[in-house]
Amino acid sequence: METFIQHARTLTARIADRSEEQETYGRLAAGQSPLALFITCSDSRVVPSLITGARPGELFELRTAGNAVPVYQDDMAACAEAATIEYAMRVLRVADIVVCGHSHCGAVGAKIRGEDLTG
Ligand SMILES: [Zn+2]
Repeated sequence: METFIQHARTLTARIADRSEEQETYGRLAAGQSPLALFITCSDSRVVPSLITGARPGELFELRTAGNAVPVYQDDMAACAEAATIEYAMRVLRVADIVVCGHSHCGAVGAKIRGEDLTG
């Protein structure tokens, strides 16, 4: 974990060393205009930017275990998944929504086996 913390603490300095990155992050500080909403599993082996080649600011991500998104109901309570999708569509006006599954997904495997996922 210490490696992650140290990496995060040095991000600004690392960006300062590269003018191309400075321009990108400077522009992104003013706002985002992602190309797509990318819905995928929380699994640590799934790395959307690695899969797609997307750069910072290009994907708006929604990550849940097994790509689970509650079915919409008129009387449903607010939920993070619905808020993320609504924000992507109404505010960011993403052109595309991508749902990306993956092999060996523990959550989907449990669902297929009929295990109780509510707890
Ligand atoms: Zn998964």
